[in-house]
Amino acid sequence: MLKLGRTLIDTRTLDEGIARLAAEVDRDQAGRPALLVGILKGSVFFLCDLAKRLKTPVSLDFLQVSSYGSGTKSSGNVRLVRDLTTDVAGKDVIIVEDIVDTGRTLQKIIEILGTRHPKSVKICALLQKRIPGNDDVPIDYLGFPIEDVFVVGYGLDHAEAFRNLPYIAVLEPDGDGSPAPA
Ligand code: 5GP
Repeated sequence: MLKLGRTLIDTRTLDEGIARLAAEVDRDQAGRPALLVGILKGSVFFLCDLAKRLKTPVSLDFLQVSSYGSGTKSSGNVRLVRDLTTDVAGKDVIIVEDIVDTGRTLQKIIEILGTRHPKSVKICALLQKRIPGNDDVPIDYLGFPIEDVFVVGYGLDHAEAFRNLPYIAVLEPDGDGSPAPA
């Protein structure tokens, strides 16, 4: 069994990090509009807080991919399950992602959007796990690098639970000796 463990990033620290990211995006966009593409469902809280902080004129759209199912390890098999409703051609697109682990999800999304002739594609990720091999993921705006642990809260789930925690916490074995689910 898994249980909610220690707090990794508290609400105030999240707020400060997101304010910093918004300032970076505003600086780069210099008043030019951007399309924020949120990756459902994990990025929803982050995207809303980021959008509210931005002075850049933004429109919003969402896409959904599936790769994790209900486990805690990426399957590596990333499928598009819900597409955008907006034409990205000629637009500055900023992909808003909750967490980068192996980077496969972002790779797939960049591949999909790249064929649709956006003016530019940038990546804004709240969290990135420090794992060997994912440091070449081209993240333009990063909130927080984190250790290689499974986290929940602030949009991130485990089997759909914990998304509405207002902070990021580590999911840990509950210590009763039973193995964690794969
Ligand atoms: P990647 O494709 O980079 O390996 O995985 C990225 C996706 O896997 C994220 O969008 C997120 O949905 C999920 N993910 C990766 N690490 C975690 C984690 O620690 N906690 C949760 N809840 N989801 C994660």
